[in-house]
Formats: sequence, structure tokens, C-alpha cells
Amino acid sequence: MEKKLYEYFSNVQIPSLLTIYDLLILSLTEKDCIVSFNWDSLLIQAYNRVAKITWNRPKILFLHGNVGAGVCKDCMTFGLIQNYCRKCGKPYNAVPLLYPVEQKDYNSDSFIRDQWSVAKYYISKAGKVTIFGYSAPSSDKEASEILKAAFSKHDGVHRLDAVEIIERPGFNANEISETWQYFFSLTNYHSDIVDSFYNSYLAQAPRRTLQYQYQQFIRGWWGQPKIHFSKQDTFESVETLLKPLLVNEEQGDYSII
Ligand SMILES: [Zn+2]
Repeated sequence: MEKKLYEYFSNVQIPSLLTIYDLLILSLTEKDCIVSFNWDSLLIQAYNRVAKITWNRPKILFLHGNVGAGVCKDCMTFGLIQNYCRKCGKPYNAVPLLYPVEQKDYNSDSFIRDQWSVAKYYISKAGKVTIFGYSAPSSDKEASEILKAAFSKHDGVHRLDAVEIIERPGFNANEISETWQYFFSLTNYHSDIVDSFYNSYLAQAPRRTLQYQYQQFIRGWWGQPKIHFSKQDTFESVETLLKPLLVNEEQGDYSII
């Protein structure tokens, strides 16, 4: 069964044109983290190909395993499944895929445990959490409890932070899970629900999302960043669009343009 799943998900190929996976990665920088529950390797494929635009990319974590990730348990290193361990030079081994059952075991495998531990660190300190396509269903009770515990780890730190949910058009706000309601409450209801990635803060202020949030919340700024993503974007247009931001980043300048 697991072999069949591996085969199936290993064959999922990203389309050659620009996708939202590419834009999602390009909207973030090295201080950020994408936490995924997906088994397919679309995010990894996008991560690799946007390297031709920038190396300043977020960390990516797979909390339920991923067919594109490999691990060397001897050296506790991980990377692309097709690569070799950078310490001992042996091929990487596949990581487990966790099934959608009520009681998942997040502790029995060292790779999964490690991914969760890094995710918890990022979530506990996050100035902005964007939830994209994950409703925290009741079947993921264990995950929900861990996410909630991580976000509330430091008392009161999220009062000026924000949570944004990207959902399908026509989504009913009453359907938001108790987990995300809890996140909303800790940020003093600095919360948004948008019906498309393009309307999210990530797309409206790529690579400067937190700076934009700060300008709005603390400075009362009503302006809009000039650099933002749109549905018409291509790899070429995005590369040109982001260029001024990338040039500034090399000087440590993360101001909004
Ligand atoms: Zn090794």
C-alpha cells in the first residue's frame, strides 16, 4: 500500500508554467517557513526551480512526510530523495508517509519528529500565520492540539500579529475550525479570510509581508506596495518584478517598494 502511494505521488509533476507553489515560495524569505501536510513533491519541485530567481527562500517542512524528501538516519541529515547524504555519501532513504488516521504517531520516526519540532519553533514566534488549504479537520486532532500549544507557547506575544486564511471562493466563515478560531483569538482578531492567494498579504506584499503588516498596524499606513503578484504573472514577469526587492535584500534592505 505504501509502495503504491509512493509511486503515485512520486509521479506528480509540476506544470512547466508558473504556479501558485512558485509564487508562494517567492513571496517568502529565509526568515520564513512553509509547513506542509502534503505527500506530493510539488512544493519541492517549485522550491528547486525558483532558485534561478533567488536563493533567499523559506524553510520547508513536511509534517506528514513527503515522497520528495530523503533522510540519512545515521547522520541525521535530510534533503532531496534523489541526492546523497552530505556527510557519509550514502543514498538517502525515503521518509514515512503518515496516513489520515485519528491517532498519528508523530514521535516514532526521527525525521517526522524533527520536522514537527522545527515547525513548533516557527509557529511559536510567528508574526503572521497564513493558512492555505488546510482546515485543521477533526481527524487531525493531534496536529491541531500541537499547533495550538505552539502558538500559545509565549504568553501574549501574538497580540499585534495576524492570521490569514486563504480559502476557496464562497467559503462560509462559520466553517472555520476551532483551531483557527483559537489562533484568531490570540492575535486579538487581527484575522482575514480571502478567497484567493492573489488577494492575500503574501501576494499583495511579496517578501515584505511583515513589513507591510507593521506599517498598517503600528504606523497606520494606508498605502499599498507597488510590487505585488497578479494572475497574469509568468516566470519572466515575476523575475523582473522582484528584481528591485532582491537587489535591496543583498544589502540587508527589506523596505517596502
Ligand atoms: Zn549519512
